Amino acid sequence: MSKKGRVFSGARPTGRQHLGNYLGAIKNYVALQDDYDCIYCIVDIHALTTVETTEDLKQNTYEMALDWLAAGIRPEESIVFVQSHVPQVMELHTLLSMVTPLGKLTDLPTFKEKIRQNPNNVNYGLVGYPVLMTADIVLYKADVVPVGVDQAPHLEFARETVRSFNYRYNTDVLIEPQAKHTEVQKVLGIDGKNKMGKSLDNHIELASTPEETQKRVMQMVTDPQRLRRDDPGDPDVCNVYSLHKIFSPKDELEMINVECRKAGIGCVDCKKRFAANLNKHLEPFRAKRAEIGQNPQQVWDVLHDGADRARSIAKGVMEEVREAIGLPE
Ligand code: SF4
Repeated sequence: MSKKGRVFSGARPTGRQHLGNYLGAIKNYVALQDDYDCIYCIVDIHALTTVETTEDLKQNTYEMALDWLAAGIRPEESIVFVQSHVPQVMELHTLLSMVTPLGKLTDLPTFKEKIRQNPNNVNYGLVGYPVLMTADIVLYKADVVPVGVDQAPHLEFARETVRSFNYRYNTDVLIEPQAKHTEVQKVLGIDGKNKMGKSLDNHIELASTPEETQKRVMQMVTDPQRLRRDDPGDPDVCNVYSLHKIFSPKDELEMINVECRKAGIGCVDCKKRFAANLNKHLEPFRAKRAEIGQNPQQVWDVLHDGADRARSIAKGVMEEVREAIGLPE
């Protein structure tokens, strides 16, 4: 069956993935494989713009790739690789930087946010981040990039950069990627307030044991107005319930929705049910992860094979780019 086009997406090597990563990206990555040729990249060079130490970089790359594979990324179809294994992206980044006004980069809200987060590490790479991101996408002539609402300005930046490049060198060698808007579920952490993330330690790891998972679930903040067991609750404002909606069967959901409102079910029981359903859902993932994880080299082989395939696309595109610019042969 012919596919609709080529998708590219990249993610920083953040190690073991959590529920937020799964619902916000990985689940979608897996689904896109049915309709598109997919290229999924672990962007280790991007990570260098903000990391202070690289001692976990290899392990984090490995753990993340392992999670992707266990979740259903199919490396025999999709290209999965590490950004730095295809050095052509650095070359394209430099060439694209020549058509990028500096003011445009420093005006981006994400750059301002990064300065706020890392005031003592405002490096050149941080400013050029969106240019490298553009290079990531166009180096593989990706037609489509899955984006959530908050990443839309970055894709627009990439499209403008492609237009500037093609106009400057009177070419059509680079392709303007189209946004595929995805409904990214905003997953709150167990604190019920902030987006789920490792830095706030409010996450639930996919690869945790069932016991660890249950322990984290039992710590989840519920409806803040429901202080005692006999207070009625409101599932509409409860983070546990919002996750129940994703992982629990319909009849159980309906029961909780009714019983919670009249204090017929307590939060402890409700959370135990959620933990059980979540663990059940993650069982195949965990089994596959354990199986692949028995041979770590298998994961590196997937990444190296992906890099070979990515490099062969990149090499061809860079030849076209160099020719379009008029660089000496
Ligand atoms: S019973 Fe369940 S849905 Fe209701 S407040 Fe407690 S955890 Fe939330």
